[in-house]
Amino acid sequence: MKSFKRDEIVIAISNPETIWDIIVVGGGATGLGTALDAVARGYKTLLLEQSDFAKGTSSRSTKLVHGGVRYLAQGDIGLVREALYERGLLLKNAPHLVKNGAFIIPNYEWWGGAFYTIGLTLYDILAGKLGFGKAKYISKKEVISKLPNINQKGLCSGVVYHDGQFDDSRLAVNLAQTSLEKGATILNYFRVESLIKNDRKEICGVVTTDGETGISYRIKGKTVINATGVFVDELLQMDTPGKKPIVRPSQGVHIVIDKLFMPGTDAIMIPKTEDGRVLFAVPWHDKLVVGTTDTPINEHSLEPRALEEEIDFILRTAEKYLTITPTRQDVLSIFAGLRPLAAPKDGSSKTKEISRSHKLFVSESGLITITGGKWTTYRKMGEDTVDKAIEVGKLQPHSTVTKNLPIHGSIKNASRTDHLLVYGSDIDELLTLINENAAWGEKINPGMPYLCAEVIWSVRHEMARNLDDILARRVRALFLDARLAIDMAPKVASLMALELIKDKKWESDQVESFTRLANGYLLEPYHPKPKPSKMKVHE
Ligand SMILES: Cc1cc2nc3c(=O)[nH]c(=O)nc-3n(C[C@H](O)[C@H](O)[C@H](O)COP(=O)(O)OP(=O)(O)OC[C@H]3O[C@@H](n4cnc5c(N)ncnc54)[C@H](O)[C@@H]3O)c2cc1C
Repeated sequence: MKSFKRDEIVIAISNPETIWDIIVVGGGATGLGTALDAVARGYKTLLLEQSDFAKGTSSRSTKLVHGGVRYLAQGDIGLVREALYERGLLLKNAPHLVKNGAFIIPNYEWWGGAFYTIGLTLYDILAGKLGFGKAKYISKKEVISKLPNINQKGLCSGVVYHDGQFDDSRLAVNLAQTSLEKGATILNYFRVESLIKNDRKEICGVVTTDGETGISYRIKGKTVINATGVFVDELLQMDTPGKKPIVRPSQGVHIVIDKLFMPGTDAIMIPKTEDGRVLFAVPWHDKLVVGTTDTPINEHSLEPRALEEEIDFILRTAEKYLTITPTRQDVLSIFAGLRPLAAPKDGSSKTKEISRSHKLFVSESGLITITGGKWTTYRKMGEDTVDKAIEVGKLQPHSTVTKNLPIHGSIKNASRTDHLLVYGSDIDELLTLINENAAWGEKINPGMPYLCAEVIWSVRHEMARNLDDILARRVRALFLDARLAIDMAPKVASLMALELIKDKKWESDQVESFTRLANGYLLEPYHPKPKPSKMKVHE
């Protein structure tokens, strides 16, 4: 596979004569979906991400590729049908990252069995030919055999239904790779600082700065897409200073605990928690992800932090449903993400009632903004956005081709079941790195399956630039066990330094800043003691 050479890509954007058909700002699910849709139709496409791909909300999801059972309960049939269709396409186009999983609703009310079986049968019908399997009523005994740790007090029955599970940030990286392979220019660590307008006050480009060199570039484009998630208002402000915010962030928190708290392969879905939310406990990379919350907040950042009451709420709910209950000491990692929900016009604070469908609109200057939606529908969001760009930029029309476009790594009938499965068709090439250096075949840390070869691979082929890129989004160590991720940091930094030709100071700065960041994923600070030096000190 072609190596990723950042310097060469930067040269591609430094030509002031180049005019891009479509400039996408933001490298989360929405921006990457848009860039891929655009380049696959043949448009000259550039994507600029201020940090790493999926650094924002797109690495912090519940890891579900789903129609949204909750939206069905809210009567949003159109949204559910659209998402179920996209769920089916994603399983077909990225089978190395998406799997069909069983979800169990435990019923503690006598009417629950019939009620949820009917509702979820409708869910399956809406999926049509792309269904994942029929929902089924199961007895109390069957629930206990599938979920041995379930609270049996008052348990009446259960319903099993099927939905998708995936690895969100790996999908983002694979979307970036697919776009590059199709001919797009895709760059992380490039922030858009301002918008360029012509005499008619129409957008005709952006000013962007390379986060690594500090060099700024003026880039011309026929259309500019604002796909910046919870940051959309910042670009809208650059366009029209003083504009009222259109997004109201809603925070969702997950905790990660050991799988021993819920052994087996099935997930639990709690349809109604004490405050009317939905809560999932989903097996993911050999751990259990439990969440989420829905807390309206007034600020946005790339590293939001969980509130104490959100952690307490998740632990309290888990305690109600599990017999061996997790405590604060059992939390391996906590991650928070922000939903870019449309700000309610009436100023109401009930974010769980705001529609999750995506919104697309064009400013007077021609800036195209896409917001809302979900990971599952990223492809459709990209398609709709490019359709709009064709109209705004008067581009030669071409139809979307992403419905049947395999995503980088896509492999049919993969034989592996271990953690390397996420690399799909890249696995053999990744493993040949071990012929180059046998030491790369070793694990980074005995507590996690990840190999040193994966670090080298991520730097050479997946655009990883720093420790956080690798430990949080190429492998998922930070999200799975933040203490172990901190332990892995020095080894990963030294492997990266060799590949990127960096000095010891870079290594120690990386370890220090990653340790600080990773402590934000823990309840108690963790600073491992430095290992005693093996060198003899002469007095
Ligand atoms: C808690 C939670 C759970 C969820 N669970 C699910 C789920 O299970 N399944 C599902 O389908 N959906 C889920 N979603 C929804 C889904 O994750 C989001 O809809 C999706 O990730 C949003 O992607 P985005 O690209 O719009 O935003 P982001 O991922 O936030 O991307 C925006 C990007 O823009 C970049 N940016 C901002 N400003 C600039 C600038 N000036 N220059 C360059 N770049 C810039 C940011 O750095 C960021 O990377 C969940 C959401 C949350 C919050």
